[in-house]
Amino acid sequence: MQTDSRIYVAGHNGLVGSTICRRLSSEGYQNLIVRDHSQLDLCNEIAVNDFFAETKPEYVFLAAAVVGGIHANDTRPVEFLRDNLLIQTNIIEAAYQTGVKKLAFLGSTCIYPRDCPQPIKEEYLLTGPLEETNQWYAIAKIAGIKLCQAYRKQHGFNAISMMPTNLYGPGDNFDLQSSHVLPALIRKFHEGKVNHSKQVEVWGSGKPFREFLYVEDMAEACCYLMENYNDESIINIGTGQDVSIKALAELIKDIIGYEGNIVFDSSKPDGTPKKVTDVTKIKASGWQSTTSLQAGLEKTYAWYLKNAPKALA
Ligand code: GDP
Repeated sequence: MQTDSRIYVAGHNGLVGSTICRRLSSEGYQNLIVRDHSQLDLCNEIAVNDFFAETKPEYVFLAAAVVGGIHANDTRPVEFLRDNLLIQTNIIEAAYQTGVKKLAFLGSTCIYPRDCPQPIKEEYLLTGPLEETNQWYAIAKIAGIKLCQAYRKQHGFNAISMMPTNLYGPGDNFDLQSSHVLPALIRKFHEGKVNHSKQVEVWGSGKPFREFLYVEDMAEACCYLMENYNDESIINIGTGQDVSIKALAELIKDIIGYEGNIVFDSSKPDGTPKKVTDVTKIKASGWQSTTSLQAGLEKTYAWYLKNAPKALA
């Protein structure tokens, strides 16, 4: 990419897309192309084709998707499957048709089989059944990977697929019904502290393990791979380290300074028991994460304190 390349970031209002945009701007890229949902409905094939024909992007970061935590996934399966299939199909086809030089598709580690060996290597894709709570999202993302590979195979289109682990950071979704665990716990412990609550509820047993990647590290990795990775096979973006939900809750409780108790709500699902990526491949390609969980949490909580009224409005 040159600093004057036309770069379309699909999903620029989301956690991932907004961070990629900030990173590109800070690196001097001046020709970022973005569209709000009100300006462009990515589920509408004709609108997407017109947009690409008109703006002629050279590089595309495909970070637009219907996303959400365990509850949202489980209760809004149509959007997670149908809308994501449409969004990625429309963008990949239009990008190919209009001569985009390279497209980077963002997936997720929920594409991997529920009970696959840990840490998760890229080759475990499609070797076993998926976790049920997020199968809708996973199937859509697997179709996106295959679509990238199909366009490469049939048309020589340079489309790569990157699989970031659970992300968090400034700009995250703090809505308790649709968010992922980390922002939900920041909000719950913060409100618990402010309201002097005796206890804060954490969903499930606290026993599952998750890996968390600070979103600015992820944006750095995405830009790095856009410049340096040109393979049809998928590549994990993670830290290679995981933590139990219980330990995460205790860490967030300490950072926020909440003094009450943690209680586990076993009526809520645990989801996958353990999910941590093998990052050998991305490390070998020359990138590794640098932000510790503690440091990332402190930055995210500082952002929340500054932005919570607006973020929650
Ligand atoms: P997942 O990684 O796809 O399972 O998505 P989540 O980030 O939503 O959930 C991860 C784990 O955190 C699951 O075991 C949840 O039950 C647990 N968890 C604990 N408290 C919460 C909460 O307040 N919100 C969410 N979304 N998950 C929670």
